[in-house]
Amino acid sequence: MKYDFAIIGSGIIGLTLAFKLKKKLKSANIIIFEKEPNSTSHGSGRNSGVLHSGIYYEPGSLRANLCVKGAIELKEYIKSEKLWINECGKLLVPNSNTSYSHLNKLYERAKQNNVKIYKLKKEEIERKEPNINCKYNYGLHVPFTSVANPYEVSQSLIKNIKKKGIDIIYNCKILKISGTNLITKDKNFQANYIFNCAGLFADVVAENSDLKFKYSFLPFKGKYWKIKNKNFKLKHLVYPIPDTRYPFLGLHSSHNQNGDFYIGPSSTPVFSRDAYTDFFGDNIKESLNLLYNFSKKIALNENKLRTLAIKEILLITKFGFYSQVKKMFKNININDLELSKQKVGIRSQIFDPQSKNLVNDFVIINQNQTTHVLNAISPAWSASFAFADHLIDQIHL
Ligand SMILES: Cc1cc2nc3c(=O)[nH]c(=O)nc-3n(C[C@H](O)[C@H](O)[C@H](O)COP(=O)(O)OP(=O)(O)OC[C@H]3O[C@@H](n4cnc5c(N)ncnc54)[C@H](O)[C@@H]3O)c2cc1C
Repeated sequence: MKYDFAIIGSGIIGLTLAFKLKKKLKSANIIIFEKEPNSTSHGSGRNSGVLHSGIYYEPGSLRANLCVKGAIELKEYIKSEKLWINECGKLLVPNSNTSYSHLNKLYERAKQNNVKIYKLKKEEIERKEPNINCKYNYGLHVPFTSVANPYEVSQSLIKNIKKKGIDIIYNCKILKISGTNLITKDKNFQANYIFNCAGLFADVVAENSDLKFKYSFLPFKGKYWKIKNKNFKLKHLVYPIPDTRYPFLGLHSSHNQNGDFYIGPSSTPVFSRDAYTDFFGDNIKESLNLLYNFSKKIALNENKLRTLAIKEILLITKFGFYSQVKKMFKNININDLELSKQKVGIRSQIFDPQSKNLVNDFVIINQNQTTHVLNAISPAWSASFAFADHLIDQIHL
């Protein structure tokens, strides 16, 4: 049987794409291949669940456009499906002189991206959140930002696409794409059009197709620490003001519907795509390659990658992590922090060897009846519904 569309990966991008394709082409025959036994083993089940408003991203970039539109639609979907959401808003607090120097730039960027943002005085911030350690005169407030449960969102999408007749084949890894053939260990499949939405593994899938692309992969692990002290509460999400040249947002708070509070994620360089519990993974060859690539970049300090890596490596120890936490929050003791074993994710970050930069936008490559979605880093979860529309628009159905 030949499918109209085959989607590789049932993370949030694959699921929303199937949802939108079926909405647009009711009779389309769509199949999703997923190498894991479920849809939330990687990024889409391991993120902070924050619906980002779109303030951080370069105006005109895909991240800016798709995040602003997509997060509004994701919020509507969550509400219409009666899933958990906390529309708590976000406070952004400078945690260093460099961070404070980026405040006005971020404020202007948010305005350019048409996101409502307010400058608040230190006293107003402290009134809203007594547990914030605000050392600078101003911070920012973004009322739109909310937090939801990524697992619930995926389950709801799975239920809805299955109702429309879309199948997800679990435990089915696509080893190679050859023309419009999808090759697995046991069987081959055919589709008129293929979408590579393999997240953290999208560059591997792309390399195992006819595509030759210029990027290399650089994994950064995000670890979270749970706050054990049940008396510590925040009404808002609390973030630092980041250096917008890098794709990372800095350690921030997040919470869930059980009232658990977390701080994270770190951005620790690791040497495997699925090194959730360690630095290295099972694929020794890949780990050695990544170690070699990373060491080279560190040695050359290309675009301050060494500076960034050293800063992040300091967060590996509890003491190092706590020294950063203290800069933003009051009333947290070092003994209140417990490293979360479940809440840990790895970013699908790619590196451009030409510009020698971490790629700071989504990368979409359409070639030979296949779309490859690369660098689906944050805020791809927030942006997913608009992301799906964008992928469909590009192939002019
Ligand atoms: C620590 C962390 C925190 C984050 N926080 C946020 C946040 O708060 N808000 C936000 O908007 N974004 C956040 N993100 C980003 C967000 O999680 C990702 O951008 C998003 O989940 C990407 O979705 P995806 O579908 O592309 O990838 P994935 O969720 O990785 O899905 C890809 C799927 O493809 C499958 N697959 C891979 N290879 C194959 C193959 N060969 N054959 C078949 N299947 C295959 C995988 O098993 C996987 O299930 C965060 C990311 C991290 C790491």
